[in-house]
Amino acid sequence: MKLHNFNSGPSILPQSVLTQAAEAVINFNNTGLSLLEIGHRTNWFQEILQEAKDSVKQLMQLDDSYDILFLHGGATTQFMQVPMNLLDTQATAAYCDHGVWGNKAWKEASLFGHVKVVADSSDQQYRYINKGFAIPNDAAYLHITSNNTVEGTQWHTLPETTVPLVADMSSDIFSQPTNFNRFSLIYAGAQKNMGAAGVNLVVIKKDMLGKVARKIPTIMNYQKHIEAGSLMNTPPVFAVYVSMLTLRWIIQEGGLSEMGIRNHRKSSLLYNTIDANPLFEAPVAVEDRSHMNAVFFLKDQSLEAPFLDLCKQEGMIGVKGYRTVGGIRVSMYNALPIESVTSFCELMQFFTQKHG
Ligand SMILES: *Cc1c(COP(=O)(O)O)cnc(C)c1O
Repeated sequence: MKLHNFNSGPSILPQSVLTQAAEAVINFNNTGLSLLEIGHRTNWFQEILQEAKDSVKQLMQLDDSYDILFLHGGATTQFMQVPMNLLDTQATAAYCDHGVWGNKAWKEASLFGHVKVVADSSDQQYRYINKGFAIPNDAAYLHITSNNTVEGTQWHTLPETTVPLVADMSSDIFSQPTNFNRFSLIYAGAQKNMGAAGVNLVVIKKDMLGKVARKIPTIMNYQKHIEAGSLMNTPPVFAVYVSMLTLRWIIQEGGLSEMGIRNHRKSSLLYNTIDANPLFEAPVAVEDRSHMNAVFFLKDQSLEAPFLDLCKQEGMIGVKGYRTVGGIRVSMYNALPIESVTSFCELMQFFTQKHG
């Protein structure tokens, strides 16, 4: 049976990336060595890292005021590393709380300095993105989660502010054309839309650094990582390699405009199907709906278990909602073919004929 992988993360990767990554583990570029057996200071790995950085720079159309880092850990590490490097003890950072991840981010930041939560949609179960909220002019930065993976909302218009913007883009990075130069710091765990778990992409405007008085442990210090060219210590070699291959795939497929076209096509198909179906409802504010993760529910909750059973039978993987949210979540990252969404929509219709 053909499987349709709607996992929220780690999630689907292009088949060609998996094949090449598998080959490299056995015999990297016909060297007779595994990728896992080569030193990280070899020319081989330097080239991998360089291509990964060049691809990020090209896809994001970044100017030279940015540095690109591949660092250990998941996005959760960045919840700590960002404030440790950018937020002085007496200073204030503004945070948007639009879901599980944004909430964790500001709580971590409050260990390092003052935090002002300037927008919070928890009053409606995080089903919308606040608009027109005030941001203190003297905030060190404003932190947003560009796509709320768990709740299925996404920023479609950035807040107007002169305060430096910091974004957790873990679940929608490289999913569509974006004005990346609008941000002072971008981070993303690789395992949603750009590779394997174990590495973070951090894109940082150099003028953000050197402004805090605290002593920063070397391994946490962005400036030191920049000086070391992401090679301060052994980087997660395999994870960086998979990101490099995924970035290469994005470029070969036509870049971010092509990714955007595909992703919008998939999400429109799914949301239109949900909206037209009497058994299902998607309560997220329509203008804030995510193109990556669609969160929706069966109006009759007793039908949820039979629907999830049917999905399982039919090879639809990873569609159960996050444990605190419930319902259904369909993740449609770059590598997910539209055929998977079509099949899922057909399954919804089939279920509706049986139960409607
Ligand atoms: C998955 C996710 C995280 C957590 O990532 P880890 O790599 O598991 O630390 C953080 N933020 C967002 C937006 C996510 O989707």
